[in-house]
Amino acid sequence: MHPSIILKPGREKALNRRHPWIFSMAIKKVSGKPELGETVDILDHNGNWLARGAYSPQSQIRVRIWSFDQQQNIDQAFFTARVEQAFLSRQALIKEQGLTGFRLIAAESDYLPGVTVDHYDNTLVCQLLSAGAEYNRHLIIAALEAVFPQHTIYDRSDVDVRKKEGLAKTQGEIKGVLEGGLSIIEENGVKILVDIKQGHKTGFYFDQRDNRRIAGEFCKDKTVLNCFSYTGTFGIYALNNGAKHFTNVDLSQPALDIAKQNIELNNLDLSRVDFVQADVFKLLRKYREEGRTFDVIILDPPKFADNKAQLTGACRGYKDINMVAMQLLNPGGTLLTYSCSGLMSADLFQKIVADAALDARRDAQIIARLSQASDHPIASTFPEGFYLKGLALTVL
Ligand code: SAH
Repeated sequence: MHPSIILKPGREKALNRRHPWIFSMAIKKVSGKPELGETVDILDHNGNWLARGAYSPQSQIRVRIWSFDQQQNIDQAFFTARVEQAFLSRQALIKEQGLTGFRLIAAESDYLPGVTVDHYDNTLVCQLLSAGAEYNRHLIIAALEAVFPQHTIYDRSDVDVRKKEGLAKTQGEIKGVLEGGLSIIEENGVKILVDIKQGHKTGFYFDQRDNRRIAGEFCKDKTVLNCFSYTGTFGIYALNNGAKHFTNVDLSQPALDIAKQNIELNNLDLSRVDFVQADVFKLLRKYREEGRTFDVIILDPPKFADNKAQLTGACRGYKDINMVAMQLLNPGGTLLTYSCSGLMSADLFQKIVADAALDARRDAQIIARLSQASDHPIASTFPEGFYLKGLALTVL
């Protein structure tokens, strides 16, 4: 018997639609004394069993659901089955695009709330972000070992969101030894260096994989400005597609150093690439003053809004960079612009880009709507899983 959570009348609606979160406001009573992350049964106010989940006493999201099946124990077999399912559902993608690097488990969207696992060649990198993920750490790791017996397993749970769950940050080897230096992964015939220990998140942004390929198609014989380049992977695709000149801009010098090595690793022409360590907001204005122009501009900023209070500021930030970028485009140029802020809806993002075009005094036509790669699926019961939006525009 697990401790149980009894919901207020009417608050079972989201669970009936199999949404995996229960907010603190929906709870009438906690019976028993569940520990941080412990498995609890969820009951409606009449005592009917609804679901089984993990208790997060310090978070607004008080319970994250593991299963809607009353017979399902939350044990190693459960986690192994979820890992197997996630791997199985990615097989076609892995084969089709020749991937050795991909997101193996995308948390709620793979029915494992709080669990993110990325696959880098022969290493798995985990982020356990919720109290329930941490409580079941040993079962989750054992499940990964069962499906990937030869892989090194490395922990990158060194993220601030763990604080909201009452957890400290953790990082380091869980199984095997991660050799020093950078790992190499492949996608679509491109080789990419990844710094698993010190890179952003787990080391790399797999979610932009399709968008890198699409962007490349716009770049033949073009001069391209890649803002927020990180390790420069958009550039490899662009140069493979015959870009005339490519400029990577990022605040992080270590990221730019890897970007340079990535060009060399793919035997591309370094003389066609610039690496600029700068703040994009300032650099775009400087280029405008200098009268510099480009044929293609890519804007892939970090998440500007972590919560609703930051959304207004985020809108201003998006509008600003999109406006100046449009002013820097040659007539008929292409803007590829993205937002990875989950709180920003696709509609709102499109409005901001439309406003940016008005302010830039340019006509802009949307020619493609872009999204996250399919190893970042969106469970139909969890629309919050859709976070990466993009637009391709012709700017006249
Ligand atoms: N386009 C990349 C991912 C970008 S992540 C890819 O495909 O891999 C966002 C990047 O923006 C990070 O590398 C971060 O260092 C950089 N960054 C954040 N704020 C910045 C700023 N104001 N100016 C320039 N770069 C910035």
